[in-house]
Amino acid sequence: MEFVDRIIKCMDCGGDFVFTAGEQLFFFDKQFKNDPKRCKPCKAKRAATAATRTGETGTNITLRTETRTNCSACGIETTVPFKPTQGRPVLCRFCFQQKKSPMTAAAEQMPEQMQQQQAQA
Ligand SMILES: [Zn+2]
Ligand SMILES: [Zn+2]
Repeated sequence: MEFVDRIIKCMDCGGDFVFTAGEQLFFFDKQFKNDPKRCKPCKAKRAATAATRTGETGTNITLRTETRTNCSACGIETTVPFKPTQGRPVLCRFCFQQKKSPMTAAAEQMPEQMQQQQAQA
């Protein structure tokens, strides 16, 4: 079977492009029944668009995780890297530190109490 270069009109840009003998042989080999419908630049453009769409989806997922909410303690607007659960208090960084401090102090007192208990025993 002999193949000769053919001119095909691109369905995207309407320009003529060459369907080379080599490409026809490739198509024949793969048993593709349809001729190519787009020139190479248009095919590349479509591939790039598809890639961009995939990238956009990835960005959206990242944005969705940052949630704007108000601090339950001081009411200041803050962003949290998770979706706040209904009914659960959300604290801004400052209030979170404030709340954490007494607990840290209590934890520091713990060894002292343990030492006293050990002394009594
Ligand atoms: Zn084209
Ligand atoms: Zn706060």
